[in-house]
Amino acid sequence: MKIVVLLGAPGSGKGTLAAELAKEPGVRHLSSGDLLRAAVKNGTAAGVKAKAFMESGNLVPDALIAEMIEETVAADASTEVLLLDGFPRNVAQAEILAGMMARTGLSLQCALLLDVPDEIVIRRISGRRVCPKCGAGYNVDSLPPRVEGVCDACGAGLITRKDDVPETVAHRLAVYAEQTYPLIAYYREAGALVTVDGSGDDLAAKKRDALGKIR
Ligand code: AMP
Repeated sequence: MKIVVLLGAPGSGKGTLAAELAKEPGVRHLSSGDLLRAAVKNGTAAGVKAKAFMESGNLVPDALIAEMIEETVAADASTEVLLLDGFPRNVAQAEILAGMMARTGLSLQCALLLDVPDEIVIRRISGRRVCPKCGAGYNVDSLPPRVEGVCDACGAGLITRKDDVPETVAHRLAVYAEQTYPLIAYYREAGALVTVDGSGDDLAAKKRDALGKIR
């Protein structure tokens, strides 16, 4: 299994691109945010610890998310390319990941940066909607559901994630700038950084570009 670390601001479209790439055989998308949201929803011990951090837009403790990622990766035998979306989120987590890969014989294929200007990021996040029942994601501008406010896949009413409200978004972007942005230099210095222009709405073009760079 090869690891591809996805980098990009909240709202850059990492999750959407990763879901699209994961339609390719052998490619799997693992989102740390989805893992944590499932843990909160199921009321697991990790979920109970993570909840308040997440709702305030802060990062959960490194060890908590690292353990969840390692358990999930260890249980996965069939994946060829694992897209890590949302982990690592700071340099300490990147070091944890490097240790995890060394221990388990995994290698880093590359870190793929989805590059999007700030003003587009803010517009995208404020339009984001999610289905609380099946987890499908939408955007009122770029990926609207067929019927406004209703999930195409399961018919449930769509909601705005608690951490997508404007005050929390500003805080998440500040956390990103301070803690996650340095990972771009970290992976560039390691000679592992590749970049995809994420500013347009053409998902197929972004997918083609990304596939060419991660294979
Ligand atoms: P996301 O869906 O990736 O935007 O993540 C939602 C929230 O989950 C973040 O604002 C953090 O509170 C938490 N989270 C996700 N991934 C991590 C991580 N690698 N480290 C710490 N907290 C995380």
